[in-house]
Amino acid sequence: MTTALIRAGILPSDASLERVHTGSIWAEGPLWIPDRGRLRFSDIPNDCIREYDPVGGETSVYAQGVEFTNGRTRDRDGSVLQCSHGRRRVERDRDGIVENVVDSYAGVRLNSPNDIVVAGDGSIWFTDPAYGITQPREGHPGEREYGDHFVFRHDPATGRTSPVITDIEQPNGLAFSRDGSLLYVADSSERRDIRVYDVQEGARCKNGRLFAVLDAADGIPDGIRVDEEDRIWSSSGTGVIVFAPDGTEIGRIPVPEITANLCFGGPDGRDLYITATTSLYRIRTRTHG
Ligand code: MG
Repeated sequence: MTTALIRAGILPSDASLERVHTGSIWAEGPLWIPDRGRLRFSDIPNDCIREYDPVGGETSVYAQGVEFTNGRTRDRDGSVLQCSHGRRRVERDRDGIVENVVDSYAGVRLNSPNDIVVAGDGSIWFTDPAYGITQPREGHPGEREYGDHFVFRHDPATGRTSPVITDIEQPNGLAFSRDGSLLYVADSSERRDIRVYDVQEGARCKNGRLFAVLDAADGIPDGIRVDEEDRIWSSSGTGVIVFAPDGTEIGRIPVPEITANLCFGGPDGRDLYITATTSLYRIRTRTHG
């Protein structure tokens, strides 16, 4: 099944999927941390953050009692921005010291921030579906205080938080095109699609349109990433699906567990790490994020 990706030169001919960790309940939010040479990820129901060390091949607990963190990304200063379902906020982890970045919009609480990216201008973009307040094992039951599920842009310079996308049912994974002119967002509702928007002046999303729809048999898209050639790598119920920039499917990496998220990492950035239910998987690629 990886044949199409090998043929397209995206995976090396000897690429094979390895399971490098298992024993989580629901692994999410993978991020390569260059300073530590480790792959950090969330185990949401176990309420901990784990790190996999590819040198020793071991996974350890980085932090416990973390209020159900989910997606994360690296900020431009090397600190880590992460979403917390339990605290209903985006927060910053700098060497283990965690502080709030944004937890409200228009005077009410966010739902449960899920995934996050930083734009070229330093603004912080994140999705805010309801999973952390509707699924007790992933957070604390609560109300949708603004009554919807938006994608937000937070400007650290002004402290302003603005909704940029309001027409997605359950916005989940998100990723910019290489030049920042497009924003892709996965809708993990029964729509099972990825939408794409034009980003105007770095601050507004216009002309939202369908990019790809997953087949019912493939489950839902969750985390997504864009590689150096502007291809879109999406998680799904059956593994990873790689799309060309025009939305056509190039190929797949079947994964034996429901796949939540993925990221590029490793010393040269060409290892793809995949969080899939109880496990962390890795496969070598010929591209990078
Ligand atoms: Mg997610």
